[in-house]
Amino acid sequence: MNADTVQRWLEQAAASLREQRDYLTQLDAAIGDADHGTNMDRGFTAVIAKLEESDGPASPGRLLITAGGTLVSTVGGASGPLWGTALRRAGRALGDAEEFGSGELAAALDAALEGVVELGAAQEGEKTMVDALAPAVRALRERLDGGASLADAARAAFEAGEEGMRATVPLQASKGRASYLGERSIGHQDPGATSTALILGALASAVSTES
Ligand code: ADP
Ligand code: MG
Repeated sequence: MNADTVQRWLEQAAASLREQRDYLTQLDAAIGDADHGTNMDRGFTAVIAKLEESDGPASPGRLLITAGGTLVSTVGGASGPLWGTALRRAGRALGDAEEFGSGELAAALDAALEGVVELGAAQEGEKTMVDALAPAVRALRERLDGGASLADAARAAFEAGEEGMRATVPLQASKGRASYLGERSIGHQDPGATSTALILGALASAVSTES
């Protein structure tokens, strides 16, 4: 994998978030303030514009750091700093290398999750994006350790993320805006876990066209 892989990941993520923007906003209307789709779409659209205007080739790590910084500076909601931190940490973990393998990708996703948890202090089960990201990161590692191909491992990570996303429905939110609703947050799928599953799907598709 290289900078093209990261570029494809971010482009596919931007496209999915654009396509699902209204759905994400509807989910946020139920337990938040109806801006999640707009937030993620605005942020990732800005990321793609930023990558287009930068001149010369950048390392995969640098691309992710730039993308993360762009999310932090363009998204007002909680999701901007959270996904911004995730991508920055992932980028930092990749360092300056031009190429990276599945081990580095797993380490980068570990770092991304760690950054989200450090910033947002949410553990699994609190009805946030962590409920999609944490099982995905675990599934990726498990599959890679078991000898799966990167494409299969990334697909398994996406599926675990989707499962975690669906499992947010019966949960009561204890972090973020949805927590203000208390018990009334039960019965709704978390918007951030939903966009996270889309971003994981984009990753699976970016690495599946690899090799
Ligand atoms: P805001 O809540 O500021 O309007 P968004 O609507 O863009 O921001 O994002 C809401 C999503 O952010 C939630 O669905 C949840 O997944 C995620 N989120 C909120 N607070 C936290 C937190 N402390 N840790 C992890 N994720 C969080
Ligand atoms: Mg919101």
